[in-house]
Amino acid sequence: MSFRNFKMVSYVVYGRGSFNQLDGILAPQRKADAPMVFLVDHFFEGKPLAGRIPLRGKDKIVFVDVTYEPKTTYVDKLAQDLKEEFGTISGVIGIGGGSAMDLAKAVSLMMTNPGSSADYQGWDLVKNPGVYKAGIPTLSGTGAEVSRTTVLTGPTRKLGMNSDFTPFDQIVLDPELTKNAPANQRFYTGMDCYIHCIESLEGTYLNEFSKSYGEKALQLCQKVFVEKDHWDDESDDQLMMASYAGGMSIAYSQVGVAHAVSYGLSYLLGTKHGIGNCIVMNHLEEYYPAGVKEFKFMVEKNRIEIPQGICKGLTDEQFDTMIDVSLGMKPLWENALGKDWEKTMTREKLRLLYEKL
Ligand code: NAD
Ligand code: ZN
Repeated sequence: MSFRNFKMVSYVVYGRGSFNQLDGILAPQRKADAPMVFLVDHFFEGKPLAGRIPLRGKDKIVFVDVTYEPKTTYVDKLAQDLKEEFGTISGVIGIGGGSAMDLAKAVSLMMTNPGSSADYQGWDLVKNPGVYKAGIPTLSGTGAEVSRTTVLTGPTRKLGMNSDFTPFDQIVLDPELTKNAPANQRFYTGMDCYIHCIESLEGTYLNEFSKSYGEKALQLCQKVFVEKDHWDDESDDQLMMASYAGGMSIAYSQVGVAHAVSYGLSYLLGTKHGIGNCIVMNHLEEYYPAGVKEFKFMVEKNRIEIPQGICKGLTDEQFDTMIDVSLGMKPLWENALGKDWEKTMTREKLRLLYEKL
């Protein structure tokens, strides 16, 4: 038995207003004549947060379009443009939800690795460390701030660049930045964390390390979405730590059925990660009975609409594409259903599940 020896984020600062320390945090990372590049979620264009970014010298803000989840083509273009404009850069700082943070991780890696980011979709394919990278979440739930992956949609698949070079060198967890996120978005991204917990805690890969973080993250999600009657600053504090702990939980285990199925939706229909997971979770009683019951309670309590019937009218070929993408996520299925998962999750069974969504 060999145990995973995984790379973690090197530096973490947590606290309301910790964003104000960014200038000092970046100072030792600056190399002469090489700027810091801030990849900022386009939502913040013209918003006060953009004005608080500590620009020095040739530093540049790029407002990234996260209308669609990150694509390998977009990552390659961002990296290529930066190489042409600056040659080398001191680092990339991703400010935003999971999409902007993933873009920052991937662009950092593509500044120093040849070819296309699509060449590195998979496990441990990245050859060289990227440039310095920092992540600053403005939504809580994905765990992208702590994970060793950056999820990209490529020409043939939606799959992360999973590697020891992928985790951030620094994260700044400032719950103030998530204040006023729209309730629906906050719920979908928050449920990503809740679902990470259920999938990790109910999975066959579970060990005490994952369990300790998963239980804490689950408890924080329950405080925020089950117990409380209104959203307050403490909720932002708690959900940010839930996201962190949920991410740490899956670092040593895996996600499961909801993610495996939702990846198919996302690949074919462009369904976004958070909402896609919710659409699938709504129909997973067979796999996660207690989690799905509580999920439905949270949906109702927080007055969220989960779309239905999104697979209506799809062709056999389209169903097959989703099934191929989904069944390709082997570690997820193995975590969820055990070593013999292929006997349980047949193409026919998965098709019936997709038809329900
Ligand atoms: P997101 O980053 O896609 O953003 C969703 C929307 O919220 C966007 O319109 C964005 O502009 C907006 N937004 C962001 N912050 C806001 C704020 N403070 N106020 C108002 N609007 C705001 O959403 P997400 O759910 O955080 O991330 C999903 C992405 O994360 C997907 O691309 C998914 O693949 C990825 N992901 C990555 C990992 C990982 O480990 N790397 C894990 C899970 C998900
Ligand atoms: Zn997720």
